[in-house]
Amino acid sequence: MVLGVQHDRALEISLANPLAKKVETIPFDHANGRVLATSLTSHVDDPRFDNSAMDGFAVRASDCKQKLSTLIIVGTSQAGGEQPPAIGPGQACKVMTGAPMPAGADAIVMVEDTKTDQDRVTILGPARTGYIRRRAENLAKGQEALPAGATLTSAVLALAGTMGYGEVEVIKKPKIAILSTGDELVRPGTELAPGQIYESNSHALASLVESMGCQAVRHESMNDSMDELRATLDKLSGYDAILTSGGVSMGEWDLVRRIMEEEGDISFWKMKIRPGGPPLFGTWNEKPLFGLPGNPVSSLVVFHVLVAPWIASSLGYHEEMGPRVSRRVSVILEEDVAGAQGKLCLRRIRIRSDNGQLLATTHTHQGSGNMHSMVVHNGLTLLPPDTDGKAGEVVEALWLS
Ligand code: AMP
Ligand code: MG
Repeated sequence: MVLGVQHDRALEISLANPLAKKVETIPFDHANGRVLATSLTSHVDDPRFDNSAMDGFAVRASDCKQKLSTLIIVGTSQAGGEQPPAIGPGQACKVMTGAPMPAGADAIVMVEDTKTDQDRVTILGPARTGYIRRRAENLAKGQEALPAGATLTSAVLALAGTMGYGEVEVIKKPKIAILSTGDELVRPGTELAPGQIYESNSHALASLVESMGCQAVRHESMNDSMDELRATLDKLSGYDAILTSGGVSMGEWDLVRRIMEEEGDISFWKMKIRPGGPPLFGTWNEKPLFGLPGNPVSSLVVFHVLVAPWIASSLGYHEEMGPRVSRRVSVILEEDVAGAQGKLCLRRIRIRSDNGQLLATTHTHQGSGNMHSMVVHNGLTLLPPDTDGKAGEVVEALWLS
């Protein structure tokens, strides 16, 4: 077991026990929000054939050089219809948006720029080749257009459909168990006895787990008891990974740490970050287990800087297009922000976009029990150890979503 690791080392160590990646093939109709397991190449040319970008007339540009040329209409090209007749000199074909170009035509005149009289059309405006959408100008058959690890969100879904995918191979959602520990915790909405508080961490962690493309399995919070903890961890090790909250500090009742030390397998304990110093990582019955701190802010902060990147790396999420709960950005501090001695300092900040710049301010106090501060703020500084941030300075930060 390694004691007190820097942030990047903690991630490296935890990735020695990654989340198992499994894949499944699902119907395209159910693919919304899922994550591609493989890259996708197009089954078709897009567009499949030269077609018109406008409602109008397909013409030969050379016939329309003179003002008010009149052409004979030889047919109509409709989207989804049959291939229209070819046109010769002096002829035009009515064409709808998306309908195939007739052979012999090399330009389109918009319907607004024409006047029709029975089977004749007078050309009043420009004949443009630019109004033709060329076969495969977007994508050629066989071309790779979607990377593995991308979330199937609106445009990605639409492109997979455009490319002809009736089913997709996606990453099977890992099941991640969430367990809060602490004698003082009770379910929100129930009567509080003296000394009790409402349990909230498991809800926040479940939300983050789901946003990272996994299935959260929330267990009822449990008392600080070695026997109960052992039995529950045994049960939860049937899932793909376990997140616990609470019980990893130095206290006498910090039993997650104790049971992991005595009966589990700890890879590291304590990270050099503030807030969120006491987490541990290891395995219970071979399953990866993160012991997150109980302090509500700390548990979320550690998820953001450790668990989220661990999930993303384990499952091969695409950096830009995959599921994520934060984005790394550079921000300009609007006030001095104190760093932390020997530790990566994750101050809560509120990031806003102003005139092309991202500005960061702080509000409320930064206590690690103050969940209100995680709502008022929407970001975390990534101040390197022993580094203060000064007003006007550019610093790295996580913009939380
Ligand atoms: P612990 O890490 O168990 O020492 O807990 C640190 C602090 O966080 C204590 O004040 C706990 O009451 C609080 N806490 C622990 N777990 C939770 C939870 N699941 N929801 C809300 N507060 C918690
Ligand atoms: Mg506790």
